[in-house]
Amino acid sequence: MFDPVDIRKDFPVLGKYVYLDSAATTQTPRQVVEAMCDYFYKYAANHGRGAHRLARETTNHYEDAREAVAEFLGGDYEHTIFTRNTTESINMVALGLDWEAGDHVVTTHVEHHSNLLPWLRLKEKGVEVTVVTSDPRGTVDPCDIDRAITDRTKLVAVTHVSNVFGSHMDVKEITRIAHRHGCMSLVDAAQSVGHMPFDVADIDSDFVAVPGHKGMMGPQGTGVLYLKDTDSIRPTYLGGGTVYAVTEDGYKLENAPGRFEAGTPNIPGVIGLGKGVEYVKALGIGDIQQHEEHLARDAARRLSEIDRVEVYGPSDRAAVVPFNVIGLNPHDVAMILDETRKICVRSGHHCAIPSINLLKVEGTVRASFGAYNLPREVDLLVDTVEQIATTLT
Ligand code: PLP
Repeated sequence: MFDPVDIRKDFPVLGKYVYLDSAATTQTPRQVVEAMCDYFYKYAANHGRGAHRLARETTNHYEDAREAVAEFLGGDYEHTIFTRNTTESINMVALGLDWEAGDHVVTTHVEHHSNLLPWLRLKEKGVEVTVVTSDPRGTVDPCDIDRAITDRTKLVAVTHVSNVFGSHMDVKEITRIAHRHGCMSLVDAAQSVGHMPFDVADIDSDFVAVPGHKGMMGPQGTGVLYLKDTDSIRPTYLGGGTVYAVTEDGYKLENAPGRFEAGTPNIPGVIGLGKGVEYVKALGIGDIQQHEEHLARDAARRLSEIDRVEVYGPSDRAAVVPFNVIGLNPHDVAMILDETRKICVRSGHHCAIPSINLLKVEGTVRASFGAYNLPREVDLLVDTVEQIATTLT
C-alpha cells in the first residue's frame, strides 16, 4: 500500500526540511545509501577486471543493477548504458552520430539547456537546427514538429516533460512522426522516468536520456542512455573496458554496453541506482504519479488563487509548479521560503532560458514534488506564499 507518511522514514532529511525540489534531484532512500555502503564496506573492487572474488562480486552487483534498470525502463540489458547524468547521455548522442554540413536537427523551445546546447554546438559543423515553439503553457504540438522536419533532418530531440512548465510532450507520437520521415528521435526523460509509466519499447525512440538521481531515486552522478540500436552511435570515450582486442595498429571494440563505458565507472552509484529502481518499483509507479500530480495540481490551483501570484504551465501538469509573486524576484521568494519555513524550492531560469523567455519573465520559483511529499507541505507552501504576497508586495 502506497503510504507517503510511511515512506518518509526512509528519508531522514525530510524530518527537518520541506523539500520541494525533486525536479532538480530527489532525496535518496536509506536502502540506496545502504547498498552503496555495502559495496564500500563488504566487497569493493573494480568492475569487470579481475578474477578474484571481490572483483567478481562487484561485477555481479553492477550488472544486476543494469538488469534492474533495463527492466524498469522496459528495455534490454545490452542497450542500457550507464552515464553520469542526463546531460552526458544527450552529449554522447550528439558526439556519437556522424554529422555532415546541411544535416538538420529539430528540437523545441521548452528544452533544458542539456537538450539544446549539444545541438546548437553542431552549427559549428554546418548542421542546421530548428527550434519549434510551444503554446504559452509549454506544450509542443506534434504537428509543428512534423512541419519542421525536412529531407535533411537527421534527429528530432524532445523533452518528455518540461522542467519549467511541467507540461507533457507526446513523445510517442513525435517519435512516430520522426520515423515516418526516416529520421531518428531522442527523448529527454529527465522529468518523466520514475514519475509516470515509461516504456522505451512502447515509445520506440532511438535514444532515451534518463537521470539516475531523479525519479529513479539513485545517487547523484548516475544516469542512463538507452540505445534502441547499439550500433547507431560511436562511443564518445575509448580506453579500458571498451575493447575486445588491441594491436599497435588498431582495435576491435567490445559489444555494447561495455564499448560505451570507458574506464572505471561510478560503481557504488550504479549499485545504488539498482536499489533505487527496486525501491520505486515497490512503491508502484501508478501510485507515485497519482500522488505527485495530485499535490502539484492542488498547489498550482491554490497558489493561483492568491492575489499577486502568477502560476504557469498547464492544468494537467506533471509534478512541477512554476510561479511568481508579482513584484518580487524569484530568488528572494525562495530565500524567504527557506529562511522562514525551511521550504526548499528552486528559483531562476532552471537551465532553460528559452522557456523562461517564452513566459516573458526573469525567472520563476519552482516547487516540485516527489513520492515522499505530503499534503501538509502543500498547505505550508501555499500559506507562506500567501503571507509573502500580502505582506511584502
Ligand atoms: N533535461 C531536463 C528536462 C531536466 O529537467 C534536467 C535537469 O533538471 C536535465 C535535462 C539535466 O539533467 P542532469 O542533471 O541529470 O544532467
